[in-house]
Amino acid sequence: MDANRFQDQKKRLSDFYEEVWVCCPQCALKAVAKVDHESHRARLVCLSCSYNRESSDEISFLGINGKWIMPAHAYFDGTLWLQYPFKNEVFWAYNLAHLEYLERYIAARLREHKDRSHFTLLEKLPRFYHEAKNRAPLLRIIAQLKRK
Ligand SMILES: [Zn+2]
Repeated sequence: MDANRFQDQKKRLSDFYEEVWVCCPQCALKAVAKVDHESHRARLVCLSCSYNRESSDEISFLGINGKWIMPAHAYFDGTLWLQYPFKNEVFWAYNLAHLEYLERYIAARLREHKDRSHFTLLEKLPRFYHEAKNRAPLLRIIAQLKRK
């Protein structure tokens, strides 16, 4: 396969909602927030200390019960682990799969967009992600976040 080609898998941001890497509210090291909509449970577990919290995705509004579909860290008001300031913006990703998806897109010199829908994650990215002049600095940030 040609490494310079990027086939848009049309992922949406919500495809990465179920596991989000966050800063532990207790020790500030890496923690993982996960949500499982079948059991309605969201959990934030630190990999370094004993921090462990549980939450629910259920909401009740005007007598109607439903579930709240959000990125997993939002149930805990968590701060993203994978983020880095870039010019006046912030580069960020929910988890490693999301980071690697962005990396493949940014690294590819030839990008394929078939049938634009304007709903996919890549189509919604702010402009700075798409600019050729930002490719090298963004790839350096990604490499740094991977080592974090
Ligand atoms: Zn911790």
